Amino acid sequence: MEYISTRGNVGKIGFIDAFLMGLGDDGGLLVPSEIPAISAAKLKEWQNLSYQELVLEIFSYYTNDEIPQEDLKKLVNDSYSTFRDPEVTPVRKLNDSLYLLELFHGPTFAFKDIALQFMGQLYTYVSRKQNKTIHILGATSGDTGASAIEGVRGKEGIKIAILHPNGKVSKVQELQMTTVQDSNVLNLSVEGNFDDCQRIIKDLFADLDFKANNHLCAINSINFVRILAQTVYYFYAYFQVVKQTGSEQPLNFSVPTGNFGDIFAGYLAKRMGLPVNKLILATNENNILERFIQEGVYKPGGFRSTYSPSMDIQVASNFERYLYYVLDENPAQIRELMDGFKRDGEIVIPADALARVQVEFAAHGVQGQECLDTISKYKTETGYLLDPHSACGVAASDVRSGAQEVTISLATAHPAKFNEAIALCGIEQQFPEQIEALFSKPQRQTQVDGSAEEIVRELVQFYNA
Ligand SMILES: *Cc1c(COP(=O)(O)O)cnc(C)c1O
Repeated sequence: MEYISTRGNVGKIGFIDAFLMGLGDDGGLLVPSEIPAISAAKLKEWQNLSYQELVLEIFSYYTNDEIPQEDLKKLVNDSYSTFRDPEVTPVRKLNDSLYLLELFHGPTFAFKDIALQFMGQLYTYVSRKQNKTIHILGATSGDTGASAIEGVRGKEGIKIAILHPNGKVSKVQELQMTTVQDSNVLNLSVEGNFDDCQRIIKDLFADLDFKANNHLCAINSINFVRILAQTVYYFYAYFQVVKQTGSEQPLNFSVPTGNFGDIFAGYLAKRMGLPVNKLILATNENNILERFIQEGVYKPGGFRSTYSPSMDIQVASNFERYLYYVLDENPAQIRELMDGFKRDGEIVIPADALARVQVEFAAHGVQGQECLDTISKYKTETGYLLDPHSACGVAASDVRSGAQEVTISLATAHPAKFNEAIALCGIEQQFPEQIEALFSKPQRQTQVDGSAEEIVRELVQFYNA
């Protein structure tokens, strides 16, 4: 398997080069040169694999044989040995038509750990094998930063710098990032919102000299390896539900969405042959993607701070990958649309393409009160405490509850990370001890204004220290 860019001017390149390149050098996103088709017989064989075995099977289609099998196996086992649940991503039944896929059993209590524990191991492996300096740079709406830092803190040959929007992440998210004392970690607290942080990062990655001189690598979901690691749990969850229901009917997946990374992983799983009915895209009030799916117009609206801050995103960095596929893999058209987006601030797709979008996706934007009501309702009716992001997913799947379908809704974070919303529901929760312990640790972060110049200055100083 080799990798190409949605804008047509990279490649073909191998798996490790794609991993290190992150954002395509032509400004596009890297995608596999073809999507492997998994047969029904193969799916059946995979049903009884452990999570780790399934990772190895799926990765074998994508790694271009660049990592010896024994090495890959060790990387995968080390990545998931840090999880608190032996199943890694267990599935819980909430009622006959709704299952929850719990993705928050990793070290930082959010789903980002699933890909970033692996990427941390892989960066360390590549750095050692190729004797390479690796400087990770990322923007976070809260969870990616904590998770990426956890994946590489204290690792030799690696430094990590993370931009987060000052005051716009939850208290626990902030503490998880800023109480890490390892000297290979830099937290920049940026005046602005997540879109500002993400734009600065994307511009730095697009400056190829700066990127090469500073050995920059990306951990945001612009990195295809992150998407790939997340594809695994769609398969795994489907198999667990099939085993419980005895039916191999296609299932819905409801996905709390910000950057379109997680739901794109679901789309990839479907394209590989997983029996998926609808991908239900759940947003909060920052609903650019809901509007795209309803109307075929991709146009950022005003930024809103919500109870689900990890989804407070207007410009979804992964959206271009999906556009590429829904418009029949035509790089010239993607270049034109993305240029138009830069110029006019919107993308409009043709009616026939919108019809195809609506076959694959449903969408629902969840309002603040609706999010809190969903948390309260499920706590009362089932005893299960949803975090506000997972509640958006469940609320969006509830919209279709009359349809006689079975939905797996992704639980993307542990409620203890977002106690601000839980407290508003009048619910008192017990914090896991790892989270409780954060409150007594000293914090370390650097405040910066939103200017690219100041951020570049801080980065260069850190990377060269
Ligand atoms: C990152 C995140 C999301 C959104 O995922 P995307 O891949 O950006 O769409 C949803 N919920 C939580 C808790 C997150 O951390």
